[in-house]
Amino acid sequence: MHLKATIHCSLGIVYTDKALQRMSVHLSPDREKKVVFLTARVHPGESPASFICQGFIDFLVSEHPVAQILRDHVVFKVVPMLNPDGVYLGNYRCSLMGFDLNRHWQEPSPWAHPTLHAVKQLIVQMNQDPKVSLEFYIDVHAHSTMMNGFMYGNVFEEEERVQRQAVFPRLLCHNAPDFSFSSTSFNKDVVKAGTGRRFLGGLLDDTSYCYTLEVSFYSYMMAASSAPVPYTEETYMKLGRNVARTFLDYYRLNNLLDDNKPGSHINSLNILPSGRHGNNNSNGKNQDGERKLHGVRGDC
Ligand SMILES: [Zn+2]
Repeated sequence: MHLKATIHCSLGIVYTDKALQRMSVHLSPDREKKVVFLTARVHPGESPASFICQGFIDFLVSEHPVAQILRDHVVFKVVPMLNPDGVYLGNYRCSLMGFDLNRHWQEPSPWAHPTLHAVKQLIVQMNQDPKVSLEFYIDVHAHSTMMNGFMYGNVFEEEERVQRQAVFPRLLCHNAPDFSFSSTSFNKDVVKAGTGRRFLGGLLDDTSYCYTLEVSFYSYMMAASSAPVPYTEETYMKLGRNVARTFLDYYRLNNLLDDNKPGSHINSLNILPSGRHGNNNSNGKNQDGERKLHGVRGDC
């Protein structure tokens, strides 16, 4: 019911009960539930985030065989709009009260940051539930200077955890022609301490991964062309669909696909070799322990 209410309020889309039923996962009550938690539009001016989120949801509630398998194995919790008041008012970054909500994850106030407070409570509650394995938190933003889609992740001491954190963005890079692993960076900037990605990265256990998913406001570069391709609403939604379908690869559920069923194949036409978006020295690390390839700092 929570999900249904969220979808109704924030996207203005009414899904049928049948579609919502399909979103519920057929898991036995005692099996640990893998949960992917996705939020968007904490920054109200970043409208591309809503199209990504819509593509993500539309794909998951569809009849696509990949979506059906995902629904059977993973619980997806989606909050499409973390800052509805800011969106309503036409703000670029702040809430009704003038707060940048993505700097208040550490101590959100139920009065001043109610949406953030409620979502954080839900995540903390799920994290404490022994029957729930909260494995991913992805917060969707749009970027005002960078091109392509890319991610920010966290910095960890253990190299093995660092490598594990890089798995999902690497897989997404293979599935989405506009997503750049080489622009993906892992940082621990002090100014980002109050973001969802940084705060939850410290709160959740070490088998969970927290990312900010960024997408350019403008365009992306394809390997075959030197000219940037402008993003459209459709290509933003396609990125959302590709994020969803990447969980099939991540959880190694590909073997459940029926090869003889039309449309059951993951679209591999867009798969390109890694490094297609420029230098791919993903192990580069600067003096602050920040792993990045391109020098532009994020604004989210
Ligand atoms: Zn943002």
